Amino acid sequence: MGKSVPAAVEARLASPKLTPMMRQYLTVKSQYPGAIILFRMGDFFETFFEDAEECARLLDITLTARSKERDIPMAGVPHHAIEGYLARLIDFGRTVVLVDQVEDPKQAKGLVRREVTRVLSPGTYLDPNAPARTATYLVAIAFEAASKRKKKPSSAFGLAALDLATGEFRATSGGDDDTLLDELARLGMREVLVSSADTERAAVRRIAQELPRVTVTPLDDAAEKDAVLKAHLGAEEATAIARILPKEALVAAGMTLHYATEAQLRPEVPNVRGEASLSHVEVLRPYVPGDALVLDAQATTHLELVRSQGEGARKGSLLFAIDDAATAMGGRLLARWLLYPLNDVDRIRERQDAVASLIAAPTALDRLRETLAGVGDLERLVGRVVMGRANPRDLQLLVQTLGRAPALLADAAEASNATDGQGALGDGAVASAVLANLAVIDPLEDVASDIGAALVEDPPVDLEKAQVFADGYDAELDRHADLSKNGKNKIAALEAKERERTGITSLKVRYNKVFGYYIEVTKSNLALVPEGYIRKQTTVNSERFFTEELKELETAVLNAEGQRVARTIVLFDELVIRVGRQVRRLRALAAALAELDVLSTFAKIAERRSWVRPVVDDGKGIAIVDGRHPVIEQLSLDLGERFVPNDVDIDDEERLVIITGPNMAGKSTIMRQTALIVILAHMGSFVPAKSARIGLVDRVFTRVGASDDLSRGQSTFMVEMNETARILRSATDRSLILLDEIGRGTSTFDGLSIAWAVAEHLHDVVRAKTLFATHYHELTELCRDKPQAVNRHVAVKEWNDEIVFLRKLLPGATNRSYGVQVARLAGLPASIVARARVVLDSLEAQALSAGDRSAVTHLARARQADPAEGQLFLFSAPPSDPAAADGGTVVEREVLDSIRAMSVDDVTPRQALDLLAAWRQRLDSDHESS
Ligand code: ADP
Ligand code: MG
Repeated sequence: MGKSVPAAVEARLASPKLTPMMRQYLTVKSQYPGAIILFRMGDFFETFFEDAEECARLLDITLTARSKERDIPMAGVPHHAIEGYLARLIDFGRTVVLVDQVEDPKQAKGLVRREVTRVLSPGTYLDPNAPARTATYLVAIAFEAASKRKKKPSSAFGLAALDLATGEFRATSGGDDDTLLDELARLGMREVLVSSADTERAAVRRIAQELPRVTVTPLDDAAEKDAVLKAHLGAEEATAIARILPKEALVAAGMTLHYATEAQLRPEVPNVRGEASLSHVEVLRPYVPGDALVLDAQATTHLELVRSQGEGARKGSLLFAIDDAATAMGGRLLARWLLYPLNDVDRIRERQDAVASLIAAPTALDRLRETLAGVGDLERLVGRVVMGRANPRDLQLLVQTLGRAPALLADAAEASNATDGQGALGDGAVASAVLANLAVIDPLEDVASDIGAALVEDPPVDLEKAQVFADGYDAELDRHADLSKNGKNKIAALEAKERERTGITSLKVRYNKVFGYYIEVTKSNLALVPEGYIRKQTTVNSERFFTEELKELETAVLNAEGQRVARTIVLFDELVIRVGRQVRRLRALAAALAELDVLSTFAKIAERRSWVRPVVDDGKGIAIVDGRHPVIEQLSLDLGERFVPNDVDIDDEERLVIITGPNMAGKSTIMRQTALIVILAHMGSFVPAKSARIGLVDRVFTRVGASDDLSRGQSTFMVEMNETARILRSATDRSLILLDEIGRGTSTFDGLSIAWAVAEHLHDVVRAKTLFATHYHELTELCRDKPQAVNRHVAVKEWNDEIVFLRKLLPGATNRSYGVQVARLAGLPASIVARARVVLDSLEAQALSAGDRSAVTHLARARQADPAEGQLFLFSAPPSDPAAADGGTVVEREVLDSIRAMSVDDVTPRQALDLLAAWRQRLDSDHESS
C-alpha cells in the first residue's frame, strides 16, 4: 500500500479542534490512504469524509454527519451486516480496512482502543461465496529498470500470479506491453500490484483502459521484495529459480507474497484459530506464455472461450459448453487448460491416450465420474487448513474426499490398461502413461484415518455449539463434556450419597446465584451433621453447608462447558496443524484428482456428443471432416434444430481461404468452429467432427470487423487497424488467423484496399493459415495470381426470389451479397426492399459504366431489374433488355446481362481482357458444378 499521505488527511490531522476519536480515525486513514476505512462505533461501522460520500453512493446508504462534528460527512452500516457490505465494496474494486473496538467500551477508560483487524482487497479477499470454478489471482508486475533499455516504447516485464485460496503460484516474463496485457487478460485477476514508481507507465495506464474491472494497487519499496520470495522459497530453491526467471519476475513474486502476508496477518475471519501461514503456497512455478498455444485478449474475447460476448456470462462460452467437470478444482483446471493449450505433440497425445483409455473402459469411467461427484474442493480446503480458516465441517469434507481417493486411483489404474484396440501394446506397456502415473499417487490414507478417528460423524461448523470430536478421542475432553452434560445428575448423586451417609432424609443440595451450590440441613437434624461440613449461611429454619467435594464438583460443573469448548479449540488447532503439515502431499493429490476429473470429462463428452480423437502432428495442415461448432451444436440441439457440419481444409498449398457468402450464411460460424476445434485439439480433448487432422499451431489470431465488434471507446476503425497491425507483426507460418470482415469501418475503397493488401501480405510473406471472410467480392480475384489462395463460399439456394441458407461451405466464390433478400428476411418493409433493389441495380450499372477497378465483379453480378421499375431510376442507367429472360443457366444469363450492360467505349483494353477472363472462368466453373 502506498504510504504517500494525501494532503487532505494531513491537513485534517493538523486541525486544532480535532477530537481524540477523529485523531484515532485519521491516523489509520493516513496509514491506508487508498483504502476505505470502516470504523467501529457502537453497533455501526462508520465511514467519514470522502469515504462516506463514496460508500453512500456505492452501497446506497444514507449520508449523515457526526453529531459532535457537523461538518464531517458520515455514513455507516450495522456491524452485524458487515460481511455483505464488505463483499460489495470489494466487488467494486475497493480495498477495505476494518477498524474494530478491541476492548469493551464499558470498561474503557477514556477513548475505546481500536485496531485494524482486517485488510481486504480484491486480490486477497477470500470470499466464501466466490465462484468455485474461477481462480482468483493476485497479480504483480515489475518492469526492467529503464537504464538497460533506452527509449523503448514498451519495456521488459516480470509477472507473478498467486491464487491465495489454492496456493497456485506462478511467474513469467516478457518483452513488450502487448504481451503483458494479453497475459493479464488471460489471468482475469481483479487486482494488480505495481511499484508506486511505475504507476505512470504506459503499460500500467493501459490496464485501467483495457481491463476496467481491475484494481491497480501501488506498492512502496517494491524493488526490494524479491527478498520476501527468497525467504519463502529457501536459499536453494531461490537460487534455482533465479536461474530460470529474470529479476523482475522474482520481484513481482515477492510483491504478491508480501502483500498477501500483510493482508493475512490480520486474519480476515474473526476468531481465527491457529497460526495463519502461507505454507500452502507452492514453490514458484516459472512459465512461458509461448510454451502454450498463445491466445491473446482478442482471440479469447472473439472466440468466446470463457465468456460470451453479449452478456459477458459464462453461459454461451466454449468453457461453459465443455465444463462438465465434477469438482470445482476440475473446473478450474479445465479453464487453465483452455487458456493455456499445449503446443507439444507428445504431451497432447499423452492426454489423448488417457481420454481414449477412459472411453475404452466405460465401467471404470462411469464409476469414476460417480465417485468424483462426492469429492470436495481439495485445493481450497487445503488452503483453508493452512491459513487457519478451516472449520470442522471442512475437515469432514477433507476426510470424505480422501476416503474416495483409493477408489478413484483404482479406476484410473484399470482404465490405464484399456485400449480401443487401435494401438498395439508391447509387453508391460500401458495404454495411457498419464493414467498409470495418476493411479500411483499417494492417497494419504494415514491423514484420512487420523482425521476420521478424531471427528464425530457429522461435526458442526462452529467449535462452540456441538460435539466436534468423537468420544474416546481425548480423555480430558470427555471428562469436561461428561460433566457439562451430566452436571445435574452428579449433583443429585452427591445429594443421595450424603443422605445415605448422614441419615438425614430431608438433606438437600440446592443452588442460588449468590452462594452457588450448598447442602441444606433443617435445624432439627443439625446434630447429625458430620465432620467436614463447613457452614456457609444460617437461615430461619436451616443451616447451609458446603463440603470440599461439593465445592470441587461445583467448580467442575460450572466450568465444564467453558473447559469443553477451550479443550475442543486446542485439540482442533492441533489437528489442523497436523493436517497442515501434509500440505505438499495434499496438494499433489488435489492436482491428480483435478486432472482425473478433466480427463474423464473429456472422455464423457466425447462419448455423449460423438467427438473424435484428432490426429495432431507437426505438419502445417488443418483438415476437418464434418466439423461442428461445439457451442452452437449444443444450442441447436436444445432448440431441436440440426447443425450442418462442414469440412475445412487448409494446408501449405491452400493456406489463404477466402470465404464469401451472404450475411447470415454461416461464414463466421465456420471460421470460429475451426479455431475452437484447433484449440480443443491442443488441449488434448477430442473434437466435434467426423475426423480431424490438426498440425501444431503456435497462435490463434482473430480480427473481427468493426461492425461485429463491441467497441472499447477508441474509434473502432483505429482498434481494427491496431489489431490487424499486431497480427501482421506477430503471426508466423504456424499461426491460424481468422479475419472476419476486416476493413469495414471506413469507406468501401479504403476498406477494400486495406483488406487486399493485408491478404496479399499474409499470403506472400507471413504464410500463415488464414481464413478470410469478406463481403468484398473483389477479393475473390486474389486467387487468380496468388497460387496458395483459394475461394470458398457458404452456399444459399434461391427459391422464388427468397433465399434458403444451406450452411454448406463449397469451393469457389459467390458473386452476390443477397443483402436485399437478407434484409427482407429480417423484416424490412416490402416497399423499402423494393426500392433498395432498384437503387442497387442503378448503382451497379453506374459502377459498370465508370469502368472502375471493381467493374469485373459488378459486371458479373446478377441483375434482376424489373423493366417496369426502370422508370423510377434515381440514377441514369441503361435499362436492361427484357430479352435477357431467355434460356440458359443462371450464370449464362448473368454473363449475357453483363455483356449487354457493358459500355464498350469506356473500358480500356486491359480491362476488357480482365472481363473476358472473368466471364470465361465463371462459365467454366458453372459447367463443372452442373
Ligand atoms: P455470417 O457470418 O455469414 O453472417 P454467421 O456465421 O453469423 O453468418 O451465422 C448466422 C447464424 O446462422 C448463426 O447465428 C447460426 O445460428 C446459424 N448457423 C451458422 N452456421 C450454421 C450451421 N452450420 N448449421 C446450423 N446453423 C448455422
Ligand atoms: Mg459474420
